[in-house]
Amino acid sequence: MSKRVALVTGASRGIGRAIAFSLCHAGLDVVFAARGVEQNEELAAEIGGCESCGGRSMRVNLDVTSPDSIKEAFTRVLKEKTRIDVLVNNAGITRDGLAVRTNAADWDGVLDLNLGESFRCIQQVLPGMMRNRWGRIINITSVVGQAGSAGQANYAASKAGMIGLTKSLAQELGSRGVTVNAVSPGYIDTDMTKGLPEELKAKILGQVPLGRMGQPEDIANAVKFLAGDEAGYITGQVLAVNGGMYM
Ligand code: NDP
Repeated sequence: MSKRVALVTGASRGIGRAIAFSLCHAGLDVVFAARGVEQNEELAAEIGGCESCGGRSMRVNLDVTSPDSIKEAFTRVLKEKTRIDVLVNNAGITRDGLAVRTNAADWDGVLDLNLGESFRCIQQVLPGMMRNRWGRIINITSVVGQAGSAGQANYAASKAGMIGLTKSLAQELGSRGVTVNAVSPGYIDTDMTKGLPEELKAKILGQVPLGRMGQPEDIANAVKFLAGDEAGYITGQVLAVNGGMYM
């Protein structure tokens, strides 16, 4: 059997990049998807030097806010790789602010990208996964979607929505051999958290029993497990990788 194919959204940096390389090291044929990723020479060099895939991994420009871009990217990947066995919906953004000051653009933008994107990408891979009677869909949600967070109502709602999406699809697709799970990161060291005020960072760290920020690789390890054959009897679950921040 040829290698399984995985597509990771938001694979240009942070958690998505770590997930994509981890799947690559696990022997999958990986598609790195993000905006402008085909012009990203630094990523191209890293993939080119990757012994696991021998540089075979593919980069594809994908703007998940654009239905046309989604259609175009998935059509290209399916033409070139013939199938997608593992989809990781990782691309995500925050537009934080107290609810009283949140404008419609920040509400809609976060909901549409984080949640709408996941659904639109899932629709692209479902026919193939159902036909093959094997598939793994992994949605990257957040501790905030489980616990809530003042100043992040839009983000928390989008991430909680991803959990509902995960559980519903797990029920729909189980009989077709497709598992659908969510991984819920806590406080992870990426561009997304770099800009937080030091005071807030210290406060968040104080809530983490393991006493450190998570690294993108901590999330990638959980995704790699859920993407493999060993996780075949796990579906509809939310795997928290948060250092004990929320139990
Ligand atoms: P980063 O901000 O570091 O990276 C975000 C990724 O999303 C980038 O690869 C970016 O790619 C991609 N992205 C953003 N907008 C678009 C778009 N329109 N189309 C395609 N890709 C897009 O975030 P993290 O790595 O920290 O987060 C990854 C996921 O993990 C997100 O869903 C986030 O909500 C979640 N998470 C993160 C936590 C953390 O503490 N860091 C905690 C809990 C959850 P590019 O801009 O290059 O296109």
